[in-house]
Amino acid sequence: MAGFANTLHMEVNTVTCQEAERMVTPYINDNLSGEEVDAFLHHLETCKNCQEELEIYFMVDVGLKQLDRDSGAFDIAGALKERIEDSYARVGRLRTLKTLSYAVRTLAAMAVAVTVLLQFRIWLWP
Ligand SMILES: [Zn+2]
Repeated sequence: MAGFANTLHMEVNTVTCQEAERMVTPYINDNLSGEEVDAFLHHLETCKNCQEELEIYFMVDVGLKQLDRDSGAFDIAGALKERIEDSYARVGRLRTLKTLSYAVRTLAAMAVAVTVLLQFRIWLWP
């Protein structure tokens, strides 16, 4: 996996987990520069912890916004996949989507749990 990254034509700025975690919210809100998005995605490809961090934040953020719009079924996993694909297109790099498909599978499972939590919120705070 590390070898794959080294074969890329252009060098990518690397970020630490701590830096990546700080980029999660700005990434979701689309407040990162192209270079930052690139570094962020690059980190996600090799770091499962930060992938999970992004999934959780994305799910909570998008899930709550969706709830406010009073929309029932919403494909959060699909939305995150689209977001990441857009980002890849934006930074103009072709990379493996293997990591991404792993992330989306995990997210799909977690989305079920969050749907239940959101439903509880509706019941408790109508
Ligand atoms: Zn990390």
